[in-house]
Amino acid sequence: MCGCLGELFRHASSRRSALAAAAVGISLTQAAYAAVTEAEREAGETREALAAAAQGARTWLLFGGTAGGPSFWPNTDRMGVSSAVVVGDAAYIVDAGSGGIRRVAQGLEAMSTGPKLGNTQALRGVRAMFLTHMHSDHTVDLPALLLFGYYTGLDRPERGALQIYGPGPRGEMAPIFTPPGQVAKDVAAFSPGNPTPGTREMIELLLAAYATDINDRMRDNGKRPPEKLVQAHDIVLPKVDGFLSPNTTPSPVMEPFGVYEDDRVRVSAILGQHAPIFPAFAYRFDTDEGSVVFSGDTGPCDNIVRLAAGADVLVHEVIVTSYVDRAFPPGRDLVTDGLRAHLLSAHTSVEQVGEIAERAGVDTLVLNHFVPGNATADELLPAQRGFSGKLVIAEDLLAMKLR
Ligand SMILES: [Zn+2]
Repeated sequence: MCGCLGELFRHASSRRSALAAAAVGISLTQAAYAAVTEAEREAGETREALAAAAQGARTWLLFGGTAGGPSFWPNTDRMGVSSAVVVGDAAYIVDAGSGGIRRVAQGLEAMSTGPKLGNTQALRGVRAMFLTHMHSDHTVDLPALLLFGYYTGLDRPERGALQIYGPGPRGEMAPIFTPPGQVAKDVAAFSPGNPTPGTREMIELLLAAYATDINDRMRDNGKRPPEKLVQAHDIVLPKVDGFLSPNTTPSPVMEPFGVYEDDRVRVSAILGQHAPIFPAFAYRFDTDEGSVVFSGDTGPCDNIVRLAAGADVLVHEVIVTSYVDRAFPPGRDLVTDGLRAHLLSAHTSVEQVGEIAERAGVDTLVLNHFVPGNATADELLPAQRGFSGKLVIAEDLLAMKLR
């Protein structure tokens, strides 16, 4: 069983109801449309309650940002998707959406039971990070993590470098989207010498782009070179029967494979269905206190069901079908019709996600990575359809016990 109640979070729009939730899980944000500064104030006020609760459980899920899509969504204070699994004093981050790393740092600092040093040591316990795929709404906060990390706990000789795992180079260019019945047109490649870099190259290129800042910090503040703070790894796909290429078989039927292991967690991965992006990973964290799966971006996919089988919690992306209908109203031409179909095939609708969770047999389904980012509870509640377990709608700065 998961240690939180979905209804409480769905209605946690006042400080009173949020504190009522504190006994089973804690939401730091209150008003759906509060300003960031308001969320910070609330984080400070609930810090003691969070720290007290964290002492009683070893494994927590922390939702930093919860919005999906490469957009600054209006009428919401949700930041871009970024989450963390917290096991005692160790933490593991999944993805780095816009503003999401700031949210994770806020949450980790609030959950810390150690000395409060402002926000300066919030990332001290972060051992590893896992990128699901290379879309910008999952990676754009990497510079913030790497560079602000110098002053937020990642410059820690005694604990070693942060280990970042993610997709390797795609290797072949994605196909050019072509509506049915039309002839494909040519599209010139951007950065033709290196059009599909993976995680390791992305980190190297980002750090190189910030060399002026880094050299200043090293020479003026005595900071260590960045390779002492972070080490990036391209995940090597195992041999999969039936896999031909990223464009023809982006999500072949496969078994989960190991990515990372230490004394707190064992992390495994599988390919989701987010074509034409490739690879798109889902991750499973197994701890002594249970298991959680992050779907990453994916359409309905048997691989996700396989990875999540028997897990306690499935954190799954979701898209609101009525939003897609609003964005692409009737009267569509071939292009907009194709775009609409593409959007729906590479993501999972609120009407589909419950069945995925039911088939996986998880106790709790947490909806996350909302498209649109300002989706309302009423638009998301149909996710309960077909699912007999507990439904939770994630909020920025929601912390919940794994079970
Ligand atoms: Zn994506």
